[in-house]
Amino acid sequence: MDHFLYQGGILHAEGVAIPEIAAQVGTPFYVYSTATLTRHYRLFTEALSPLPHLVCFAIKSLSNVAVLKTLGDLGAGMDVVSIGEYLRARAAGVPGERIVFSGVGKTRAEIRAALEGGIRQFNVESEPELRAISDIATALGVQAPIALRVNPDVDAKTHAKIATGKSENKFGIPIAKARAVYAEAAALPGLRVVGVDVHIGSQLTDLAPFEAAFLKVRELTLQLREDGHQITRLDLGGGLGIPYTGSNDAPPLPVEYGAMIQRTLGDLGCEIEIEPGRLISGNSGLLVAQVVYVKSGEGRDFLILDAAMNDLARPSMYDAHHDIVPVVESAPGDPTQPFDVVGPVCETGDTFARGREMPLLAEGDLVAFRSAGAYGAVMASEYNSRPLIPEVLVNGDHFAVIRERPTFDEILARDKLPFWL
Ligand SMILES: *Cc1c(COP(=O)(O)O)cnc(C)c1O
Repeated sequence: MDHFLYQGGILHAEGVAIPEIAAQVGTPFYVYSTATLTRHYRLFTEALSPLPHLVCFAIKSLSNVAVLKTLGDLGAGMDVVSIGEYLRARAAGVPGERIVFSGVGKTRAEIRAALEGGIRQFNVESEPELRAISDIATALGVQAPIALRVNPDVDAKTHAKIATGKSENKFGIPIAKARAVYAEAAALPGLRVVGVDVHIGSQLTDLAPFEAAFLKVRELTLQLREDGHQITRLDLGGGLGIPYTGSNDAPPLPVEYGAMIQRTLGDLGCEIEIEPGRLISGNSGLLVAQVVYVKSGEGRDFLILDAAMNDLARPSMYDAHHDIVPVVESAPGDPTQPFDVVGPVCETGDTFARGREMPLLAEGDLVAFRSAGAYGAVMASEYNSRPLIPEVLVNGDHFAVIRERPTFDEILARDKLPFWL
């Protein structure tokens, strides 16, 4: 459920009419709903409420500081995969004790900065990384809290580009090797083993792969305790999927996910950490665009929008589906026709949808892409010298621009001419 509904025939974000925002900030833009972000975060805290837990929002899905502060003020932790994301979390007021650092290639500079700034735990993905953290922590005279990210070799049954838990993926330490690597970790100076971490992929629409992975984590935890390690935290990653089409795909609910966690791991006495990204941010955002032209082609018509693949990469990158709805509601029985919905970028891949049944839209009409909050703005680029588009946050009847559209002067000022030109 989200808070983007038609009121009086006009699409609203909570209490604010989308055309009102468009008139002020121009199109295209992203708009996020505070109520939806809050609601989705709480679904997880409620689902895990019988267990000690921390819900760490995966910043990579939506990293605007205003969004992070919205969640951080509710008590959320943060899952970061770069020092840039770490600094965003800190800028949002989230203390280091609520930040976990994931990622397969943390540099020494990133590790040092996180240790100096304060960090809840590193999720370590390789033996060389373990040794690097040990070296840096020892030099700084601190103990680095660590969990090893294990690769459970389960098939997440999701898009190949976002599956991470098979042995052929680059992520984590093979679970069969885990006991040996934990023994190494315990012997290295400057490290404090606190837990086990697993993350098998994104946009999972079935609980079975999660459960298979968690049962392997359970077995490993019991073995590690026998080996003398103090395992007090289990980080179960993110990855719960969301419905992108409103109708026929219905992924499991957070409450079902939480019940499964309690069933598989609840008796271990561990604090449970989860790292949801998409489920909190995905349905909390729209991409709003305007129709530039309606073009009749050979046997097909094109809706050419002012938004493009550089603003929302998911359709071109993952063949992802986004519902695209008119901002002015069409009445039941109004005629529709199939359109190819495209952007202006000079790539055939700049296609959002093919043959999509849409109302008869005209130049200047506004449309909204649903479920665009996650992996939308964060993946945007300036390809074709198109400025990054603004982000807007709505809260009840209020809205605020939380990232401005850069001017062309600002964009051009970043390029520097060498002395010989
Ligand atoms: C991407 C990622 C997440 C979040 O995944 P979602 O599918 O957005 O929930 C969590 N943890 C790690 C380590 C990730 O790489």
